[in-house]
Amino acid sequence: MERLRANGHAAYLVGGSLRDLLLGREPADWDLATDARPEQVAALVPGSRADNPFGTVFAPTAGGPVEITTFRADRAYEDFRRPSGVDFGERIEDDLARRDFTVNAIAWGGAPGSAPAAIDPFDGRGDLDRRLLRAVGDPAARFREDALRTLRAIRLAAVLGFEIEPATLTAIGEAAPLAIHLSGERIAAEIERLLAAERPSVGLRLAMGSGLLRVIAPLLAEQRGVAQNKAPGEDLWDHTCRTVDAAAAGTASPTVRLAALLHDIGKPATVDGGHFYGHEIVGAEQAVDLLRRWNRPRDTVERVAHLIRHHMFGYAPAWSDAAVRRFIGKVGRDRLADLFALREADNVGSGRAADVDGLDELRARVDRELAAGSAIDRSGLAIDGADLIAELGLTPGPTIGRILDRLVERVVADPTRNERGRLLETARAIVSGDR
Ligand code: ATP
Ligand code: MG
Repeated sequence: MERLRANGHAAYLVGGSLRDLLLGREPADWDLATDARPEQVAALVPGSRADNPFGTVFAPTAGGPVEITTFRADRAYEDFRRPSGVDFGERIEDDLARRDFTVNAIAWGGAPGSAPAAIDPFDGRGDLDRRLLRAVGDPAARFREDALRTLRAIRLAAVLGFEIEPATLTAIGEAAPLAIHLSGERIAAEIERLLAAERPSVGLRLAMGSGLLRVIAPLLAEQRGVAQNKAPGEDLWDHTCRTVDAAAAGTASPTVRLAALLHDIGKPATVDGGHFYGHEIVGAEQAVDLLRRWNRPRDTVERVAHLIRHHMFGYAPAWSDAAVRRFIGKVGRDRLADLFALREADNVGSGRAADVDGLDELRARVDRELAAGSAIDRSGLAIDGADLIAELGLTPGPTIGRILDRLVERVVADPTRNERGRLLETARAIVSGDR
């Protein structure tokens, strides 16, 4: 900011970083607004990038990434998304009027030579004190211009713990159908940031209440009113909200938070006389559909679906050690921590203690098996495919994998079988039996 001002340009700290500073929160990133044109900014900031149609300059600094935008006076909006282009403005006040919420429409800085000062035309500081999210200008018009603002409002309300001012909230409800025009990426980015809030349920309930959820995740919206015999008087949607909050209260990863949101998505489709048989299987498929529409990375989709698919496991103390090893093999050792975290959140979301159903005992037994180095999968076998080829004269192909899997089954049942000579002998028997 000082570099811009020293070179004859007005510059202001704006947006979320100023808002967060005023709230005493750590800013996620830094936003500056200036009357300098993008090419002038780029020339003043070494290492910056300006390769986008909106004239935003991205500058790495010692204090973190800074986004520098030239004052805006946007053109008309199309498709309820982005302006068709930007016209650069001359005044910070015009730039602030294009911003979404009053608390995001404060600036601090000034023209060159003047002492930095706050510019707050919409009483954003008053709304910060009142902890209110209020649209700048006519809320209905602002959400019609850009439907992403509806989701931003809900995400910000959850992350900041703010209420949404009544007229703004009404306008979100009216504009909710326009969210159909938003790209999956934009929706997912807001949902993931919402799930990172301390109490995501604040935003989830706003999304449900405003009708936004019905547009962006219709199957989740169907959870409202589906009876559950968990916490008295609460429905399936209440359970989902509690589960997500419980995941957020722990150290759950973003993947677990997404899985918590979607873990019972299959219930409305499978409800039958108070039961939901197979909801984890149907739900895993529905989650894949939704997360693909949201353009999530393949690995995220797969992990979330896997967690949902397995979240109903039923442990009993009578399980043999072999059963514990089969459980580890089925879930996958790198997925266990997430599955336990999901199940704990699900338990809390059901009004029960986190560790009911012997969860802690199962975890301890799993840890013991892993610490003992018990073979769980092919990688733990004392022989591998190359041994089968060399010793049994087999040719490479799917048969090798099938034999290894059968050896794994035997070794999981009885670890003493995991010895080279015995395994080769067993493999020979399998081969001759097959023929
Ligand atoms: P955070 O960075 O914590 O998500 P933010 O408010 O800084 O919050 P950014 O996406 O970094 O969000 O946007 C910076 C600023 O740009 C916002 O504070 C707001 O003033 C403005 N802004 C962002 N998106 C929109 C939008 N869709 N419509 C109008 N103004 C917006
Ligand atoms: Mg920001």
